[in-house]
Amino acid sequence: WSKKDFSWTKKLEANNKKVFGNHSFRPNQREVINATMSGNDIFVLMPTGGGKSLTYQLPALICPGVTLVISPLVSLIQDQIMHLLQANIPAAYLSSNMEWTTQQEILRDLCSSHCSYKLLYVTPEKVAKSDVLLRQLENLYARELLQRIVIDEAHCVSQWGHDFRPDYQSLGILKQKFPNIPLLALTATATASVKEDVVQALGLVDCIIFKQSFNRPNLRFSVIPKTKKCMEDIDKFIKDNHYDECGIVYCLSRNDCEKVAKKLQEFGHKATFYHGNMDPDERASVQKMWSKDEVNIICATVAFGMGINKPDVRFVIHHSIPKSIEGYHQECGRAGRDGHYSSCVLYYSYSDYIRVKHMISHGSVEQSSYASRSTTSISGRVMETNTENLLRMVSYCENDVDCRRFLQLVHFGEKFDSFSCKKTCDNCLKTHTLVDKDVTQIAKHLVELVKSVRQEFSGTYILEVYRGSMNQIVKKNLHDNLKLHGAGKNVAKGEASRVLRHLVIEEILLEDIKKSDLYGSVSSILKVNENKAYDLLEGRQTIMLRFPSDV
Ligand code: ADP
Ligand code: ZN
Repeated sequence: WSKKDFSWTKKLEANNKKVFGNHSFRPNQREVINATMSGNDIFVLMPTGGGKSLTYQLPALICPGVTLVISPLVSLIQDQIMHLLQANIPAAYLSSNMEWTTQQEILRDLCSSHCSYKLLYVTPEKVAKSDVLLRQLENLYARELLQRIVIDEAHCVSQWGHDFRPDYQSLGILKQKFPNIPLLALTATATASVKEDVVQALGLVDCIIFKQSFNRPNLRFSVIPKTKKCMEDIDKFIKDNHYDECGIVYCLSRNDCEKVAKKLQEFGHKATFYHGNMDPDERASVQKMWSKDEVNIICATVAFGMGINKPDVRFVIHHSIPKSIEGYHQECGRAGRDGHYSSCVLYYSYSDYIRVKHMISHGSVEQSSYASRSTTSISGRVMETNTENLLRMVSYCENDVDCRRFLQLVHFGEKFDSFSCKKTCDNCLKTHTLVDKDVTQIAKHLVELVKSVRQEFSGTYILEVYRGSMNQIVKKNLHDNLKLHGAGKNVAKGEASRVLRHLVIEEILLEDIKKSDLYGSVSSILKVNENKAYDLLEGRQTIMLRFPSDV
């Protein structure tokens, strides 16, 4: 799609320069444009900042008719329209909370013979709920003025993804109603199964897929154990590495955002917070201060993200575990868009994982900015997917051996040789040699212990009994009489707990999360997943883990 000359090539290049002010095309832009202008259905996976908008705005400009763009967030749409109008490209949007008369005007223009708009943006719920819009599109279609359909953030279609949005599912209707109009689905994040799901739900025909590497060579990745001194660690990290530079600290809850921001202010940083509980004015003012460099650090939930085009974000810190590898990759992707070196540091503790898991099962997780809060009802399947996504993230954090880039990219179905990391992640930087160790016996003991305490206790407790603790609770429960009490007294604590977490990640042990007291703290009770534990208990499964050779 890149080499061949098309009838539009000259026009394309001229307009790219003249109207959009670009000297050349970025990777895959030309290819995607040629393929969509040839009439194909297309699925594009391009990293954030890769220049997805140009791939439909340029064709919209040079083709006759109207391009329909479905985009999830009104503020993003407004931003796009502002840029288009500045470049003298007529564009409009329709949203439900717009004045009816304004909507009428736009609709009237669309059905008039001169039809001045080149691009029409709508939110997905507009497609799902507005018969008027559909009739209008049918009208355009009948007059051969419906040029192309674009679905931005297409991964929202899939329940397997990390940002499922129910209104996106009704977009399948577009291909049914307008079968021969080329459709262009765009996203910056999708695993193979999400992609399949999107292609199927939208009804794409003989779809061409464009995909480029998700590796971001200028980002450095590390995972750091989170301790009680986490805030001091973060302060030191910023002062040592990014003094007075711009960054985002992603926090789990709204409350955390405010606390973390306050603490950073006390440490002398220009920090503030941003979350979904603030009213739109407050949020807009924070965004403004941030883009004008009046504050350096935003402590935010994932609600802060979309449409953030600040090129010089030098660090993204995760104060708590992210909810999925896709989400993590996207959040980190906001750093270093100018191509300069930037840091991505994740503070990880197992207890944060328990917290997130509890939030997921109660549907109280803050959605990213474009998931509309009112319409999202968490179904069982979505909850299951969320839990699985979170477990993968735990496994990423627990892994202190493999290259971080390799671990992320493998998730997107991309092969990556960790040699190419060039020691830009914490695991590749480690100098100690690693040894594979057979931990089958420890694993077996731990599973048996969970059974012998009748599946009523937490992982921490199991480890105490295993290592032979004689504390009051152990004695009160008479667990010092168990056969396996103290069976692991010669096993290092870190080693035993790694094996235990491995068993959870592999779902040989399952966690039941409970609110344990009046203060709302949560704890997890371990249970045995008989199906998956069977082979281990019968001596038919070996479990190997890698450890630094000095363990
Ligand atoms: P995405 O939607 O993929 O995150 P955008 O479409 O918002 O990315 O583009 C990101 C930035 O890159 C924008 O500021 C855009 O003007 C710029 N850009 C896009 N294509 C080019 C190009 N070919 N040359 C230079 N800049 C470009
Ligand atoms: Zn690496």
